[in-house]
Amino acid sequence: MRRDNVIVVGAGPTGLVTALGLARAGVEVTVLESDPAIVDSPRAVVYHWAVLDGLDRVGILEEAIRTGFANPELCIVVLKTGEKIRLNINALAGEVTHPYQVHLGQDKLAEIAVAHLLRSPHARVRWSTRVVGLRQDGAGVSVSVVSPAGPERLEAGWVIGADGGHSTVRQLLGLRMDGMTWPERFVATNIRYDFARYGYAPANVVIDAPYGAIVAKIDHAGLWRCTYCEADSLPEETILERMPAYFQAALPGEKRYELVRYSPYRMHQRCVDRMRVGRVVLAGDAAHITNPTGGLGLTSGLYDAYVLHEALAAVIHGEADEGVLDRYSEERRRAFLEHASPEASNFKRMVYHAKSDEELQAQLEGFRAAARDQSLQRLIFLTAKKLETPSLIGRPAR
Ligand SMILES: Cc1cc2nc3c(=O)[nH]c(=O)nc-3n(C[C@H](O)[C@H](O)[C@H](O)COP(=O)(O)OP(=O)(O)OC[C@H]3O[C@@H](n4cnc5c(N)ncnc54)[C@H](O)[C@@H]3O)c2cc1C
Repeated sequence: MRRDNVIVVGAGPTGLVTALGLARAGVEVTVLESDPAIVDSPRAVVYHWAVLDGLDRVGILEEAIRTGFANPELCIVVLKTGEKIRLNINALAGEVTHPYQVHLGQDKLAEIAVAHLLRSPHARVRWSTRVVGLRQDGAGVSVSVVSPAGPERLEAGWVIGADGGHSTVRQLLGLRMDGMTWPERFVATNIRYDFARYGYAPANVVIDAPYGAIVAKIDHAGLWRCTYCEADSLPEETILERMPAYFQAALPGEKRYELVRYSPYRMHQRCVDRMRVGRVVLAGDAAHITNPTGGLGLTSGLYDAYVLHEALAAVIHGEADEGVLDRYSEERRRAFLEHASPEASNFKRMVYHAKSDEELQAQLEGFRAAARDQSLQRLIFLTAKKLETPSLIGRPAR
């Protein structure tokens, strides 16, 4: 018998937002997460203005802003000279619904999404439940899982693999992830340090080779994210020994800081060759992975979630043909390969690896001009929209 329920593999932000959208459309959805709770390592912390409408549509934007905060200010800091170029998303005021970005750890966003899912009569979340096998036919998918209760087989009409960069679902489908791996690693740190005192905005791009960083305020209690870069050939076990030298060079004023958490990450630019195999569809980092400079990783995952939950619900309710899921695969790969991946790569080079002062000055000139001219500033902010895929079933996106 044909089944209409959906299993979402992975309780990361992509999987949870997709599940929320499906549940709100009346689709029975179960999220399976291998960890016992939401993974809280320091990762995404800033949500671009352009993804906020989608969070609003699944009902979690207001709470996300209340838990974190809205911020329209961005600053480009040139570490060597102390120059600060200030931009403001207010350049889009009157044109977009949310002319600001939201700051909030992605684990907190996930917590909000889980709380909303648990209030839905259509959704369930199972923790400590690892997907280890998949078998599909024309009617549905049989999913093998391992949980503290032992091995089990679950049945679903459709499966969404939102299980992150090391995706088991992708591997079970036999899909390759072509692309490249960078020779550097990122070190994402959560530190207590008063960047505001030195003229930093809540969100900053600190340009310097080799001490560049993305610096973003996480909360109003003095916690900031500072993500820097080092050679991947250096031993991971000794990051903590090298860290004081980094902050000595990179902090703008006094050098005392409190390290709260840190996490190293390898970086890639990679994408699968298709995001749908029959009744199994990939989304988020499971399908495409980018270095996080510019915050285009989760932005891409959320844009996947927005079109996928709408398209799959329409297929399940008999309002759209299954072919819409192939269009999802084509359009989301295109947005990643043509926009997200090249833009994140260019941004990474500018922030951390400017080759010469002439090259850097040419790049900065564009930002200086934008700081003086609202219409240029507007164009810079509108680039985030290029990553979006408009509704595949003809519903107007706000
Ligand atoms: C340092 C850093 C900073 C970043 N900053 C930003 C930013 O500011 N803005 C931005 O847009 N992006 C940012 N990103 C990227 C962002 O973190 C990722 O794109 C995002 O986590 C992808 O979400 P996801 O839900 O697709 O995958 P994940 O968050 O990786 O979630 C996958 C989930 O699947 C679970 N899982 C895995 N395997 C299985 C299995 N077999 N069975 C069941 N469950 C399983 C995992 O435990 C996990 O909970 C950053 C990344 C890094 C590394």
